[in-house]
Amino acid sequence: VVLTGAGVSTESGIPDFRSPTGIWAQFDPLEYASLEAFRSDPAKVWSFYAPRFAMLTEAEPNAAHRVLAELERRGLVRAVVTQNIDLLHERAGSCEVVEVHGSIRSSSCLACGARYPLQEVVAQLESRPAPICPQCEAVLKPDVVFFGELLPVAAIDRAYALAGDAELLLVVGSALEVWPVAELPLVTRRAGGSVAIVNRGSTALDGDADLKIDGSAGETLESVLAALG
Ligand code: NAD
Repeated sequence: VVLTGAGVSTESGIPDFRSPTGIWAQFDPLEYASLEAFRSDPAKVWSFYAPRFAMLTEAEPNAAHRVLAELERRGLVRAVVTQNIDLLHERAGSCEVVEVHGSIRSSSCLACGARYPLQEVVAQLESRPAPICPQCEAVLKPDVVFFGELLPVAAIDRAYALAGDAELLLVVGSALEVWPVAELPLVTRRAGGSVAIVNRGSTALDGDADLKIDGSAGETLESVLAALG
């Protein structure tokens, strides 16, 4: 089982959150990615998300995403649990992807509950700063988990089950600072499995891992694939 974070997508040109060049170095998360902020000023939140949607839909999967999809095809990876919202695992060919922080796949109307696919949202963003529900004209909220929101229950339950069953949990590109996802490696350890971390820089759980490789996600995973032959 693989657990990925923003670091698996930086080689696709998508900045992570917590590096010095990451998104939170420029934007205060509580101002732009919290439910409270969305409720009080949805247009301001979309001023952050609209360029992000454009960037995410233009990005292409990188070597790390492709290797993980190949390892799944070979029967070596059972599932990818991801904190990312960018859909790049799916676009690289991974079939079992558990999105614990939601994704840009759809956006919802908080007033009537209607849900709209990414293409419709992107089309609206070409002519207006924030997409609206065509039925009730309320501003749509992207179906990504904001601060102050609960995680999607089915996804997080599946992530815990997968972590508990995993012979090896491979963490790729996550600082392991966001809970409850950061607990997943500990779930694997408690159930008798091993934990390996591939991350540039330290993570909160380096001391609990059986193996830590400090390096690029793409280069390291390509080396793994080459070593497997
Ligand atoms: P994070 O920003 O906290 O940590 C990312 C880690 O990856 C950092 O330790 C960084 O040093 C490392 N890293 C960066 N580039 C790397 C590379 N090429 N190879 C190896 N390691 C690399 O991200 P997180 O742990 O995923 O948690 C923060 C939240 O960020 C999540 O909730 C996620 O939803 C969200 N996020 C998602 C995206 C995306 O969808 N691509 C982008 C930014 C943030």
